[in-house]
Amino acid sequence: MSPAREISKPRVRFAPSPTGRLHLGSARTALFNWLVARGSDGTMILRLEDTDKERSSPEFEHDILGSLHWMGIDWDEGPDVGGDHGPYRQSERMGMYGEYARQLLGQGKAYRCYCTSEELDARKKAAIADGRAWRYDRRCLELPENERGRLESEGVPYTVRFKVPAGTVTVEDMLRGDVNVDASEIDDFIIVRSDGSAGFHLAVVIDDMTMEVTHVIRGDDHLTNAVRHVLLFEALGARTPKFLHHSLLMGPDGSKLSKRHGSTSVSDYREKGYLHEALANYLALLSWSPGDDREIFLLPELVKEFSIAGVSASKAIFDFDKLNWLNRKHMRRLSASELTDLVVPFLEREGRDAQLALPREKLELAVESVRNGMEVLGDAVEPTDVFVRPAGELDDKARAELRKSAELDDALAMCAEVLGAGPSADMESAERMVAALREGAKGKGWGAKKVLWPFRLAVTGLTVGPDLVYLIIFWGPAGCAERIDATRATMEASGV
Ligand code: GLU
Repeated sequence: MSPAREISKPRVRFAPSPTGRLHLGSARTALFNWLVARGSDGTMILRLEDTDKERSSPEFEHDILGSLHWMGIDWDEGPDVGGDHGPYRQSERMGMYGEYARQLLGQGKAYRCYCTSEELDARKKAAIADGRAWRYDRRCLELPENERGRLESEGVPYTVRFKVPAGTVTVEDMLRGDVNVDASEIDDFIIVRSDGSAGFHLAVVIDDMTMEVTHVIRGDDHLTNAVRHVLLFEALGARTPKFLHHSLLMGPDGSKLSKRHGSTSVSDYREKGYLHEALANYLALLSWSPGDDREIFLLPELVKEFSIAGVSASKAIFDFDKLNWLNRKHMRRLSASELTDLVVPFLEREGRDAQLALPREKLELAVESVRNGMEVLGDAVEPTDVFVRPAGELDDKARAELRKSAELDDALAMCAEVLGAGPSADMESAERMVAALREGAKGKGWGAKKVLWPFRLAVTGLTVGPDLVYLIIFWGPAGCAERIDATRATMEASGV
């Protein structure tokens, strides 16, 4: 069941804080939201929660937007595209938060708190020493009027605390069912800091309310925050959105996925040469299952198939091998030309001018010849170097191997003969030539390796490389024969 049949026209949001590069876990949250929006004719909103001025930076913002775009995740409203519910950066919405805070103060749903952090610390320590759980003791809620008036007239700095009403708070979570918390367990939390800026909870709730968000889909590290958010929505007389708190992304050892486990940002994976299709496919499959054993999905297929009903609440463990497997599968779907387009930036990054200077169809052939050994795009760089090696140049291993071959001259002469002087070969004729080399070896009572091995060594000068048919297609039969001659000349010159 696609979300379209589960939800009608939702307004969802992805709300990253630009305090780091886009983390895989956040990318997964963004993807969930996007799949719900796109699968049900909904609206995707991008909101930047950039109130932490010290840790937020334009570079991180740039990375987040770029990584989302790269993954194929777009949005209908956001800081760069605008929309009717903007601005979409929290730093530009401060005035709005102040207004709602004043409303809550005026209604007696919030109150000013003059306690300094030193005073709070001291009371907290005393409570702990007495074996009592510390929760804000509401001292400022109960301030005598004259005391309050004095503090106000003296301009003493204050925070604004939300007055948590008594009763049970219920977070209706689409994945976890109702989560009930007794309000007595919740502190009168701060909604406006002493510098006048909005606290996290107030900003999120006012944004979700004024942006008319219908479904809040985020990691379950926000489940405890959701309790406070429900209280704020109710206090503001707003409709509470539906919640879905998905499980967090964990490393193989079961702790939250972090740098300790390896790369964690989308841009790292992009730079390493993962395909965006593979990463999105992998992140979607991490906690959602199509209900059958299919595993390979492109984004449009995910949009069609993804359903909230298929999302599991169990732990999502990042499995690097599975991602590599999916990357290979997705690379296999690409044509030689598409794959080459993606490999070119990696050749450029490594300064492989000779490979880059190959005629396009030769470069495509080179990439195609190494495709099966590739796990990531960068894996094409080194193995395609074989195609730009000068004829007759041998590495030490190839030279030693050629020296070992007792019937080298005969074997290489046979190669030259079988290949003939044809300038070009296609896959079929190249395969025929390799078959003929095997036959020739058999005719002499040799194993095939006795001919094919020196052929590879003499044509490439290396002991490892692509399938022989690609060598024959790349250089042509006559070209291979010339390279064999060049190798023989090298061997002779070095006294073999
Ligand atoms: N800015 C929060 C974060 O990056 C998200 C808050 C939310 O989704 O409500 O974790």
